[in-house]
Amino acid sequence: MKAARMYGVNDIRVEECAIPQIGPDEILLKVKAAAICGTDLRMIQNGDKRIDREHPRILGHEISGIIDAVGEKITRYQKGMHVCLAPNMGCGVCNQCVSGNTHLCNDYQAFGINIDGGFAEYMRIPAEAAAQGNLMVINENVDFGEAALLEPASCVMNGQSRVNIRLNDTVLVIGAGPIGLMHALIAKASGAGRVYMRDLSEERLRQCTEVDDDLIPVYGRNLLEQIMDFTGGKGVDVCIVACPSGQAQAESLELMAMNGRILFFGGLPQGKDMVSLPSNLIHYRQLSICGSTRANVEQYRSVADMVGNGRLNMKKIISGRYALEDIEDALTYAKSGKGLKTVIEF
Ligand SMILES: [Zn+2]
Ligand SMILES: [Zn+2]
Repeated sequence: MKAARMYGVNDIRVEECAIPQIGPDEILLKVKAAAICGTDLRMIQNGDKRIDREHPRILGHEISGIIDAVGEKITRYQKGMHVCLAPNMGCGVCNQCVSGNTHLCNDYQAFGINIDGGFAEYMRIPAEAAAQGNLMVINENVDFGEAALLEPASCVMNGQSRVNIRLNDTVLVIGAGPIGLMHALIAKASGAGRVYMRDLSEERLRQCTEVDDDLIPVYGRNLLEQIMDFTGGKGVDVCIVACPSGQAQAESLELMAMNGRILFFGGLPQGKDMVSLPSNLIHYRQLSICGSTRANVEQYRSVADMVGNGRLNMKKIISGRYALEDIEDALTYAKSGKGLKTVIEF
């Protein structure tokens, strides 16, 4: 089979290698689509201490495919099923795992991060993932590319579970990349009233309104003034900062209505995470500031359901589709920031 392996900083090689062998309680997945994520780009650009010439890794953690074979002890999955794959596995026994938060397990493992992922024609699904329900069967009419986007969408879902969007809430998403756009679409599906989007790039804002013309882009001059104009001086109920900017995090507080909820989604670059916040606003406006990381399998399944039943349509978020052989081009395109999501298809 063909696989794209990372050997070190900026060293990705498409190689011929053996199809993985599976044990009696494991599954062989034929990958149909794997999307490129900012995490992949960062790993390739900065390197990863677990990956070197002796220990190459197949990246890719946003994955969908068809079950190609199951071990003899597997009873709940069959060859031929269309599936998507939640990438995070917990140990299964710690308190976080037994409460369903396998993504918060101290010993968590993830496909494409610390075990081989989806930039390959086939993947071995180990027993833990097969037993923890990480594979979810999807309807045969769901596009595999769109199904690969369920992973980032599940992280968005986890983030929004922290700020609890209520019917008719005014929501502002800062950062109009693919993740910001998913936040906007899922906020709408959760009953948000107006959803504003902010980005320094007018091109990105335009792309978002092309995907959904119900989203309100905030271009140009002073963001605070505009938000206060739009909301009659009230501020927004929920602000989601979906860009790696400490300044955007700090400035979000003054945009908030009383009792507002803020989500800091995603990390800041290393060494840039000391952010000073106007803390009196937290007090006098009774604000909540939350963070989130990754997603659990339940959240993954609920976004998969939303795509399956048409409540969420992410197909238009895919702006680049590439073959595995052209992964270099795909990575360059993803890095350029010109498009939205880039998917490797098989
Ligand atoms: Zn990702
Ligand atoms: Zn655990």
